[in-house]
Amino acid sequence: MLSRRKSVLTAASALLFISAGPAGAVGFTPGAPGGGDPYFPDAGNGGYDVSHYSLNLGYEPGSGQLTGRADITATATQDLSRVDLDLRGFTVSAVQVDGVAAGYARSGTQELVITLRNGLRSGRAFTVSVTYAGEPHPITDPDGSTEGWVPTEDGAFVVGEPQGSPGWYPVNDDPRDKATFDVAVTVPEGLTALSNGVLVSRTSSGGHTTWAWRESDPMAPYLATATLGRFDLTVSAVGDIPSYVAVDPTLPAGNVLRKLPEIVQFYASTYGPYPFDAVGAIADDAPEVGYSLETQTKPVFDRMPDEATLAHELSHQWLGDSVTLGRWRDIWLHEGFATWSEWIWSEHSGRRSAQASFDALYNTPASKTSFWTPPPGDPGDPAHLFDGTIYARGAMTVQALRQKVGDEAFFRIIRTWLAENRHGTVTTAQFIALAERISGTDLTHFFDVWLYQPQKPTSW
Ligand SMILES: [Zn+2]
Repeated sequence: MLSRRKSVLTAASALLFISAGPAGAVGFTPGAPGGGDPYFPDAGNGGYDVSHYSLNLGYEPGSGQLTGRADITATATQDLSRVDLDLRGFTVSAVQVDGVAAGYARSGTQELVITLRNGLRSGRAFTVSVTYAGEPHPITDPDGSTEGWVPTEDGAFVVGEPQGSPGWYPVNDDPRDKATFDVAVTVPEGLTALSNGVLVSRTSSGGHTTWAWRESDPMAPYLATATLGRFDLTVSAVGDIPSYVAVDPTLPAGNVLRKLPEIVQFYASTYGPYPFDAVGAIADDAPEVGYSLETQTKPVFDRMPDEATLAHELSHQWLGDSVTLGRWRDIWLHEGFATWSEWIWSEHSGRRSAQASFDALYNTPASKTSFWTPPPGDPGDPAHLFDGTIYARGAMTVQALRQKVGDEAFFRIIRTWLAENRHGTVTTAQFIALAERISGTDLTHFFDVWLYQPQKPTSW
């Protein structure tokens, strides 16, 4: 094929063809197969930046079969001969680049390796389309928890933190590569499929319903969901933001979700405007999952949450979803702040103050090392990413900062942090620098003692 086309090329276009050639061409190199996070080296990829995912999925809970087509819009950030996407399991039946069939191979645990016939110049926009099918297999994390596409009695509980997204869609699974999403899911009629953002359409034919959702704000890939099953969906609004609250009808009726508007409005008044164009919650009956997740615009709960859990996940919309870690080691920036957010919601509600929560935990003796270690700024390895200390000592760090710099500077630090980094990714070093700038205080010792030293902090 190559030789026959070559014969009709002009000299100029022959040159162009060669310069844009595949792996052998000068300067065109494969994108890195990993994003470089020491905790999850295979997650993410190098050489391109995704701007949009369009996912069209179909799921049959009876057979457990998922069919999918992903159309991914991206821009090359180097002269590329090859790109990787992250995908675990499934049979891939076709890959196209800019509408033309491309060669592909599977490699390692989650690499879908795509050969670019003509190479892609840095700065060039392109679309990768992947057609795939199979039974999704939940992913077990280093800490033993389960994530990805987790089947339930009537559908699936779909969560991606930290590495579950490749368990249901081809993705550049790097929290720094935020993108907008269109997610359409076709399910047997009578089931509800939920995803991030606003409901664009719901259409039924032939015994199936397609639910189309659109997330127009940038989203880290791990925050996507496609949780589905039997749900009662209530569409309303919080202020002028559309609200979608979905409750599995088999759950005991509870009133806690009625608190959602009040909690969202409290955090908006404390942290700054709600960062997204939709709000909501998904309460599923999936206790075997064992946790809730702050999926963007619609946190998903494995049971009817209590008020503290609801507040925790809603606060993550600001602290974790809008302002997101770039490296998983910095998870305390999410969990410490969300746990502290539970405390400040309690304080605001006239119950236990944040300082009282701090004091109760601080009474834990230094000899109880499992409470104090690992320090929140350095979990050590991914098996300890979600240890209790990341949450408890992380929240204590936040409250101790409040004590140290006073309420005026403290709330200015948080509001500035969220405003300056909206829809971005951040590091702990950036937070420390901001806290020092706003408070006018050298906080080197403070953060070292609270975030990085393994023993109980005694003076700061
Ligand atoms: Zn959390």
